[in-house]
Amino acid sequence: MSMQRILEEIRDEVRPLLHQGTIASYIPELASVPPERFGMAVHTVDGKVFAVGDAGLRFSIQSISKLFTLTLAMQLDGDDLWARVGREPSGNAFNSLVQLEYENGKPRNPFINAGALVVTDVILSHLDNAIETLRDIVRALSGEPTIDFDLAVARSEQATGHRNKAMAYFLKSFQNLDNDPEKVLDAYFHHCSLAMSCHELCQASLFLANYGVAPVSGDFIMTTNQVKYINSLMLTSGTYDAVGDFAYRVGLPSKSGVGGGIVAVMPGQFSVCVWSPGLDASGNSLVGTKALEIFTTKTGISIF
Ligand code: GLN
Repeated sequence: MSMQRILEEIRDEVRPLLHQGTIASYIPELASVPPERFGMAVHTVDGKVFAVGDAGLRFSIQSISKLFTLTLAMQLDGDDLWARVGREPSGNAFNSLVQLEYENGKPRNPFINAGALVVTDVILSHLDNAIETLRDIVRALSGEPTIDFDLAVARSEQATGHRNKAMAYFLKSFQNLDNDPEKVLDAYFHHCSLAMSCHELCQASLFLANYGVAPVSGDFIMTTNQVKYINSLMLTSGTYDAVGDFAYRVGLPSKSGVGGGIVAVMPGQFSVCVWSPGLDASGNSLVGTKALEIFTTKTGISIF
């Protein structure tokens, strides 16, 4: 069966589930996204593109941005980052504070909020225009110069993100932030607010499927080994405390966000992005997870 036909079958199979998830309303600006939105795209390393539904509509990428901040921090900081952030699944909610106290302010991994705040701090320490640099990297990777922050979403989280604020000050109390917590939070809320489509996210993450080669420029932006590190972290920590069940069902390194997007990569072959805003209890897209499970089942393609 062709890849396009498989995506069409997935779209038809998940349609009855579209209202089962819960839209993230703790960031008020996200609450107004229609729950019936569904898009899915596949971009192959040799330039083929397949898509169904709302794959061209932009949505709030939220924690998927942590893929790009980690990429930049690894480029800037090399292995020094790992003195400040771990590489283990957390087994706790993505925004949990408890583990941080027990583990003396060293977040379990760079994809939970505490770890992502430290990664953002690293970038801020290296760059004067950290957040614009990050946006420019994402624009260059996807070949889309109009990609931007959604300032309404950033402001909405700035106004209500008390838990993230507590976390940043908590990290500071353990000397695990070098910059002013308010500056780190502002940068974090901005990168989470990036608005991108499934197509754009596929392009921007294709280097992870192509051993570090960026799709538009053809440049090596990371070593093959660094790509291995990021993909491994996606598999073990990219989908929060549901990561074990997610890996069992989907079998691809993946990163999700509370905007309902999930990016996954198949090394050597393709990147795939799905978007459906209703979330499950762990904060992963309910239909997105299901769609990826059906995708790897029907294609027979997973890293296993
Ligand atoms: N900006 C969101 C937050 O910090 C990102 C969380 C997510 O997508 N899991 O809560």
